[in-house]
Amino acid sequence: MSRQFFVGGNWKCNGTKEEVKKIVTSLNEAEVPSEDVVEVVVSPPFVFLPFVKSLLRSDFYIAAQNCWVRKGGAFTGEVSAEMLLNLGIPWVILGHSERRLLMNESNEFVGDKVAYALSQGLKVIACVGETLEQRESGSTMAIVAAQTKAIADRVENWANVVLAYEPVWAIGTGKVATPAQAQEVHLELRKWLKDNAGAEVAASTRIIYGGSVNGANCKELATQSDVDGFLVGGASLKVVVLCSLSHHYSYNFSML
Ligand code: PEP
Repeated sequence: MSRQFFVGGNWKCNGTKEEVKKIVTSLNEAEVPSEDVVEVVVSPPFVFLPFVKSLLRSDFYIAAQNCWVRKGGAFTGEVSAEMLLNLGIPWVILGHSERRLLMNESNEFVGDKVAYALSQGLKVIACVGETLEQRESGSTMAIVAAQTKAIADRVENWANVVLAYEPVWAIGTGKVATPAQAQEVHLELRKWLKDNAGAEVAASTRIIYGGSVNGANCKELATQSDVDGFLVGGASLKVVVLCSLSHHYSYNFSML
């Protein structure tokens, strides 16, 4: 089964309105393959969501970087799935390792968030990944399986889920997983999905890689049969200070 390639840019907690405008302008000018070949999703901080939405070309999409686990209400500082939908934001990133580790989000909490966001109609980029210590102790697959299980226990329909394998040791460190390391985990995750969510889910769910992806290393990673795209952090922002993101994305696309 052919899976539509997915390229996500996670801007994290970065940028000014001027910088955001520059990135979006570059993206709008980028020459990329058609939407049915590559799905492009950018994830600005909450405060810039309406601004990006007002500027971004219509064949690119927007993801929030988080949302609340249930319906909104007395949860100071949180943003609900309903609010994102109300603003016309179709995607949300959930379970990013920075939130799992810094905000102590447990597997179960992330699973609940994914289930709630999906139930409201959002599409979800659900992140899993092991720390360096976990990799070195040989528990990579047990860790990512447990993270995925907490989602699978709460979700029946995977059509609107993209699973992002993001080894924590590769995020923001410049230490990218080798294509073989990425492929090994992606293949295991696909097998896990087959055994636990069914063959159809395993064949159709996009499993993307994140962790120090850039224009130089993306080509080889993308040749791996179970790597269906990328979630790009730092390199998706470089345009702010360095060069054009449109070039970065074109570079990603040119390997297809
Ligand atoms: C991320 O934070 O999702 C990420 C992959 O970051 P980076 O590309 O900077 O490693």
